[in-house]
Amino acid sequence: MKIAIIGTGYVGLCTGVGFASKGNNVVCVDIEEEKVNKINSGVPPIYELDLEDMLKDSIKSKNLRATTKSQEAVSASELILICVGTPSDEKGRIDLRYVNQAAQDIGTALKDCDYKVVAVKSTVIPETVESVVIPILEEYSGKKAGDGFGVCMNPEFLREGSALKDVLHPDRTVIGEFDKRSGDVLERLYKNFNAPILRTKIKVAELIKYANNGFLATKISYSNEIGNICKRLGVDVYDVMKGVGMDHRFSPHFFSAGAGWGGSCFPKDVAALIEKAKELNYEPKLLEEVVAINKRQKVRMVEHLEKRVGDVKDKKISVLGLSFKPNTDDIREASSLDIIKSLVEKGANVFAYDPQAMELMKREFPHINYTENVAESLKDADACLIVTEWDEFKKLKNEDFDSMKTRVILEGRKVLNKDDVPEFDGICW
Ligand code: NAD
Repeated sequence: MKIAIIGTGYVGLCTGVGFASKGNNVVCVDIEEEKVNKINSGVPPIYELDLEDMLKDSIKSKNLRATTKSQEAVSASELILICVGTPSDEKGRIDLRYVNQAAQDIGTALKDCDYKVVAVKSTVIPETVESVVIPILEEYSGKKAGDGFGVCMNPEFLREGSALKDVLHPDRTVIGEFDKRSGDVLERLYKNFNAPILRTKIKVAELIKYANNGFLATKISYSNEIGNICKRLGVDVYDVMKGVGMDHRFSPHFFSAGAGWGGSCFPKDVAALIEKAKELNYEPKLLEEVVAINKRQKVRMVEHLEKRVGDVKDKKISVLGLSFKPNTDDIREASSLDIIKSLVEKGANVFAYDPQAMELMKREFPHINYTENVAESLKDADACLIVTEWDEFKKLKNEDFDSMKTRVILEGRKVLNKDDVPEFDGICW
C-alpha cells in the first residue's frame, strides 16, 4: 500500500519504518528539512532500538523516503497518516496547532485527488477528529468526508524504547471509522499484523487511547502510594506488587513504583483528559490525584536525599539516568528534569550521566556537569541517585561505588539488588 506519513518524529518514523518493512511504500513528511535529509541518508534523527538498521534496510529497498513536500506525498498515496505532535497548552489542554496545519496541508492536496483515506494516529482528545480535523479537510479540499475522502482515528500504542517491536507486534489495532469504506482501507494495512483489530466509532477510538494512558499512569501512581506505605513498614513494594500482579484480574506489568512517571505521553495525555472532563462539567478527582502523587514522588527523591546527606549545597550529586525510560533519548517530562531542577536550585553540584540522553539534556541544563561514564559521575560523589533503569546500571556492583566520598545510593528504579550492592536505599523498598 502507498502510505504518506505526516510528521516524522518518534511515532511517524517508527511506524513508517515498520510499515516499510512489511513491503508498503512509505513517504515520510516533516517540516524540518534536517530531519528529512538525515532520514534519506539512513541516519535516524532519534535513538530507538533497531531503528538504524531497519531504516537503512527500508531506504535500500526503496520502500521508504522522506520529503518536506506534503502535497506531493499525499497525491502519491492511498492512505495518509497524521502523526504530528499534540503537546499541552499552558493550561494543560491539548494544543492542536500541528494537527490543524497538517489537516490544512492534506486538505489542500486532496482538492486535486481521487478518493484517499486520512487517518489520525496522533493522540487527539475525543471530538477532535469530527469537530476539527474533518471540517478543515472539507474546507481545504472542497470535498465531503465519506464521499471525496475517507477518515479514521487509528490511535498508536507503541512504547518508546521498544517502538519497532510494538509497531510490528501490537496487542491490538484500534480503527475508529467515519464509515465502512474508510475502515476497510485501514484494515487492509493491518490485516497481516497478526493482532486483533477493533473497529469502532471515531470518538470511541479517541477515548480508548486516553483511557489506556490514564489507567497505566494510575497503576504506577497506585504502586507508588502502596510503595510509600511499604517504605514505612520496612517492606519491598516489588514483593507486594508481585503478589498483586498474580491475580488474574490484573496484568503484572506497570506496577513499577519508584521515581514517578514521565515521558512524551502520560503527562500531557492525562492533563488533556482532565481538562476535557472539566470542559464537560465533570471533576475527574481520581486522575487529578494520580498526577499529584506523581509530582510528590519526584520531590520525594530529593527529600530522601536530604534526609541522608543534609543540606545538598555544594555537595557532589551523581545522577544516573536522564531519559524518561531506558532505550530512548527522549527526556520529555522525565523525572530527571524535576530532580535536577530541584538539586540545582538547592546549590548542589550535579554530575549527570546517561547512555543516550545527555545531548538533549544539555539544552535544558547547560550548566550542570555531564560525565563520559558512570565511574566519572560517581567519583568523590556525596550521593548517587538512580533515575532511569538502563541495563548498564543493572550491572553495577558494590565496588563500582567504592570511589564515592560517601556511599549514599538512592534507588529510584529498582535496578540494583542487595546481593550486588548491599547498601543502597530504595525510594519505596
Ligand atoms: P514528535 O514531536 O516526536 O514528532 C512530531 C513530528 O511532526 C516532528 O518531527 C515535527 O517536526 C513534525 N511536524 C509538525 N507539524 C508538521 C506538519 N504540518 N507537517 C509535517 N510534519 C510536521 O511527536 P511523537 O512523539 O512522534 O508523537 C506524535 C503523536 O503520537 C502525538 O500525538 C503523541 O501523543 C502520539 N503518541 C506518541 C507516542 C510516543 O511514545 N512518542 C506513543 C503513542 C502515541
